[in-house]
Amino acid sequence: MSKAVDRTYDVIIIGGGPAGLSAGLYCARARLSTLLIEKGVIGGQISNAELVENYPGFPDGISGYELGQAMHRQAKKYGLETLSAEVVGIELAQGKKVIKTTEGEYVAKAVILAGGAEPNRLGVPGEEKLLGKGVSYCATCDGPLFKDQVVAVIGGGDSAVEEGILLTRFASKVIIVHRRHQLRAAKLLQERAFANQKIEFLWDTVVEEILGDVKVKGLSLRSVKTGDRSTLEVSGVFIYVGLHPSTDYLKDLLSLDAEGHVPTGEGMETEIAGIFAAGDIRKKAARQAITAAGDGATVALSAERFLGEQE
Ligand SMILES: Cc1cc2nc3c(=O)[nH]c(=O)nc-3n(C[C@H](O)[C@H](O)[C@H](O)COP(=O)(O)OP(=O)(O)OC[C@H]3O[C@@H](n4cnc5c(N)ncnc54)[C@H](O)[C@@H]3O)c2cc1C
Repeated sequence: MSKAVDRTYDVIIIGGGPAGLSAGLYCARARLSTLLIEKGVIGGQISNAELVENYPGFPDGISGYELGQAMHRQAKKYGLETLSAEVVGIELAQGKKVIKTTEGEYVAKAVILAGGAEPNRLGVPGEEKLLGKGVSYCATCDGPLFKDQVVAVIGGGDSAVEEGILLTRFASKVIIVHRRHQLRAAKLLQERAFANQKIEFLWDTVVEEILGDVKVKGLSLRSVKTGDRSTLEVSGVFIYVGLHPSTDYLKDLLSLDAEGHVPTGEGMETEIAGIFAAGDIRKKAARQAITAAGDGATVALSAERFLGEQE
């Protein structure tokens, strides 16, 4: 792919997760010239899910990575172009949108923001220093490194519990540390976790520090009920304490909500004509692969309508 193009795309999609790939499929099938720009792994967050059991059409489940790759193959088949680069800004110029990336500038008549979300940091001492040295945000990626070792998972939502269960395949013990006294995860996942002999729970407990010099040795913990402090010896810590939308580069362009999500209308239009948003980046109630893919279809139809009105 060349560093810059002199053509104007009908649509540029930023982000190659389920929302962007589904939008890409619909745009390409509508015969719109479409470029999807992805800074990391095609497939987005779902690539980190070992097994996706709630995406319709796969009664035995499907690996998240394979689901993302299949979505990409399907969209490419109809002509979706893909660029590996990070978008760092968007400028508006005479009705067109100039997309600034780490691989040059690209121009589009319409833009679909589908940059999704990234994991929150816990924000405790030791976290940054020991990243990749026992601190991880992806059990699917790093779990096999902790064979027969004791690891902690921080969090109590779907991702924490799902990834905790996955880690029991490698680790000798998985300790789920949660600041509340009950999980937020789906009931089915809770049942599996409670039935798993390798999983233990530390309730009402927060991490104050991740301990270790060159690799993780343990956690410094505090009970939110009694205030008592303790130390837990672990070799790895997997952090699942929520996500934040990938909208840093949009702050000067669009109004965002307090958490940084992009507000949208019914057709997923933003406050700027010709700029749309789909998936986890958007202000909405459900953040799942299926809802992101659904958003992708809606947003592509809106973009197609918008382009038709411009002609
Ligand atoms: C561990 C884990 C397990 C999960 N399991 C399930 C499950 O079983 N079922 C389910 O339905 N959902 C699951 N989810 C949630 C699901 O993955 C997300 O809701 C879904 O992927 C959101 O899709 P999206 O396209 O909106 O965003 P994302 O998947 O976040 O994709 C956005 C993409 O945009 C890219 N991007 C961001 N900013 C830029 C930029 N500036 N330039 C270029 N590219 C950019 C990112 O690299 C990313 O690839 C899971 C999530 C995680 C983390």
